[in-house]
Amino acid sequence: MVNLGDLTPEELKSYIKEIGEAAFRADQIYKWVHSGAESFDEMTNISQKLKEKLSESFEVFIPEVYKKYVSKIDGTVKYLFKLSDGNIIESVVMDYHHGKSICVSSQVGCRMGCSFCASTLNGLSRNLTPFEIEGQIIRAQKDMNIRISNIVIMGIGEPLDNFANVINFIKNTNSDKGLNIGCRHITLSTCGLADKIYDLADCNLPINLAISLHAPTDERRKVLMPIANAYSIKALMEACDYYYDKTHRRITFEYALVKDKNSTREDALTLSRLLRGKNCHINLIPVNPVRERENTRISKKDMEIFKKTLEENGVNATVRRELGSDINASCGQLRNQEL
Ligand code: SAH
Repeated sequence: MVNLGDLTPEELKSYIKEIGEAAFRADQIYKWVHSGAESFDEMTNISQKLKEKLSESFEVFIPEVYKKYVSKIDGTVKYLFKLSDGNIIESVVMDYHHGKSICVSSQVGCRMGCSFCASTLNGLSRNLTPFEIEGQIIRAQKDMNIRISNIVIMGIGEPLDNFANVINFIKNTNSDKGLNIGCRHITLSTCGLADKIYDLADCNLPINLAISLHAPTDERRKVLMPIANAYSIKALMEACDYYYDKTHRRITFEYALVKDKNSTREDALTLSRLLRGKNCHINLIPVNPVRERENTRISKKDMEIFKKTLEENGVNATVRRELGSDINASCGQLRNQEL
């Protein structure tokens, strides 16, 4: 059965028209669903007759809390959510400036095959629907009794590999009848599907873009990320330039430092030559060792040296804060433990 939340406002409007109901009903229903109604009974301003009609074709379902882990160090909350078909996904809620930020999944599993990542170990099961992505936010808000102000699409999955659903998710989340979260407060992270970055730029949704770069040359990148065989760094950079020209949003490059793979002084120098002069930022991430993978961190001191080398050569960089380190099972590891 179709989840009512998966309909765009336009689709809901045309359905309402089709069944001969007044147009304003579409708005009312949309608001109920996107503010977290979990049954038709909760929709108090909708007639019984219309509720019955709706329930013939639609369901309302929001991912359920399957497991919840709360960090004693910084209050970061990691959720495993259960979908209507029993699949499990992961989301994380963190403190962000003065508000709350959520990291949502976009797929069940992933087929990108990055060598350091736990989400891809069992491949891709399926795409998430727009409302399964939004539902992670709605469920977390209800469960924690908070309002989330910032979204990063950085959980399990490659969002640009589920393009249409992710775009509809962003449009719905953006809507003032829905969660009403502005594009400036939404960040999408991609391993670099260059073609899709052009498509995203053409959507007129000026969200923040983060690129998982992780290496300064094609040769080194191919060792870590199979996607590097499909798109060269040059092609990726051209797509990023196009994105910047269209949206004027500063691009973030993510760079997980892995011992012996991408973290020498030479790597830092090559990286700075690649990014110098661009309005961008590098986020250095201490690689999260995944049990099934052989990746080792470099020392804190070496991270600082890498950062300093970038800065001395004209590129901004920060070392990402580690949140929830006592429930340290990020990047799809919680779901994997469960599987
Ligand atoms: N598929 C998207 C978004 C999900 S991954 C992407 O590739 O960007 C979110 C970020 O976490 C990416 O930058 C990814 O490269 C990084 N990541 C994955 N596994 C990691 C690990 N074990 N340690 C550090 N960062 C990791």
